[in-house]
Amino acid sequence: MASDTSFWSPALRGLVPYTPGEQPVIEGLVKLNTNENPYPPSPLVVAAIAAAAREGLQLYPDPQAMALRRAIATFHGIDTAQVFVGNGSDEVLAHAFFAFFRQNRPLLTPDISYSFYKVYCGLYGIEPALVPLDAAMRIDVTQYQGVCGGVVIANPNAPTGTSLALSQIERLLQQQPDSVVLVDEAYVDFGGDSAVGLIARYPNLLVVQTLSKSRSLAGLRVGFAAGQRHLIEALECVKDSFNSYPLDRLAVAGAVAAYEDRAYFETTRAHVIQSRDWLGRELQALGFEVLPSQANFLLVRHPGHDAAALAAGLREQRILVRHFQLPRIAQHLRISIGTPQQCAMLVDACRALTAQA
Ligand code: PMP
Repeated sequence: MASDTSFWSPALRGLVPYTPGEQPVIEGLVKLNTNENPYPPSPLVVAAIAAAAREGLQLYPDPQAMALRRAIATFHGIDTAQVFVGNGSDEVLAHAFFAFFRQNRPLLTPDISYSFYKVYCGLYGIEPALVPLDAAMRIDVTQYQGVCGGVVIANPNAPTGTSLALSQIERLLQQQPDSVVLVDEAYVDFGGDSAVGLIARYPNLLVVQTLSKSRSLAGLRVGFAAGQRHLIEALECVKDSFNSYPLDRLAVAGAVAAYEDRAYFETTRAHVIQSRDWLGRELQALGFEVLPSQANFLLVRHPGHDAAALAAGLREQRILVRHFQLPRIAQHLRISIGTPQQCAMLVDACRALTAQA
């Protein structure tokens, strides 16, 4: 009798895959566990997707997704040839790990960051060298020195929400001129400074962004990388060895419309930032320690209450937040920013839970 994994490739047996946040379908759920945007996408996005669905679905999409690359390049003031697009930034990250980090030297990345980085290391046989965040849970770029096969950081970092100034990113790029430095800017639109403007000066910089967060399109799966042409060519080489059409016609049409409706983007992200700052103050008033966040989530802990118990208590009230059973953050909760009403419900629930002995 074959055992459960006997047909599997040997490389697969030791893999530890990423665990996505829950997506339960529960009526009235306040879902603050996966850093989605609480607002729907722009109506122009929905109209563009509907129009795209009416014509052309029998044909393959443009394998280069040129319309979207042009829209992204125009928004950021860079060249279309400096943009690579993929099926969510997770796919863009995966291709970047394959393209740049399969070296004989370890990849430097923070001990607490987006947990998918370690998963890609496992998938592609890359050795991660984890660099501890400092005591204030911030990335200390002076620790990213020495021989390495590349550097990956998130800015703002996740799940901490703290961000680095561009001067720090530049220092990192100068410290590691012979390695690709990947800056994952999934949350940058909520208050961070984007490094896209630095790509002309740094041949080793690759910036990755997503439309899942600030453009309310987690369900469409669109992300991109920006970098000099030699880096983009490497990503294209991986993509065309894997899947030539990662973005379908609906995704391209919707994503282009998201860039065209700049006013909607500005309004919704301003709402999220305002709610984040309100929520941070309210939670602090309840005795929570709140890390300063430039993202669409807060990482918090309460000195008098166990994080797992708080998460369970919130869940009983149909409020989902994320609790990571991981070193250094096992007593923290990561709370995505919801609508003002959802944030108020969370505060009320936290007030009741922390009032209990
Ligand atoms: N990077 C970071 C830091 C993230 O938190 C996420 C979302 N979980 C991603 C990348 C991936 O986003 P997506 O694949 O939706 O573009």
